[in-house]
Amino acid sequence: MEKKKFELGDVVQMKKPHPCGTNEWEIIRMGMDIRIKCIHCKHSVLIPRAEFEKKMKKVLKSASPGDEQSDTETR
Ligand SMILES: [Zn+2]
Repeated sequence: MEKKKFELGDVVQMKKPHPCGTNEWEIIRMGMDIRIKCIHCKHSVLIPRAEFEKKMKKVLKSASPGDEQSDTETR
């Protein structure tokens, strides 16, 4: 039971892919509503936060390294 965490700039995967065939979205605006942009065709969609949390599958790329497990860059 982990809570979905996402931030501005994250690349996320949604439950339903975009009709263009890509399922990678970048979060470009956060507020009451979340605006995500399809990585492939640059189409952007505005979704209410609650709905976004329901439709988001997982975070593919976090904008802030160190928050999640970052074994790649150990110093
Ligand atoms: Zn698209």
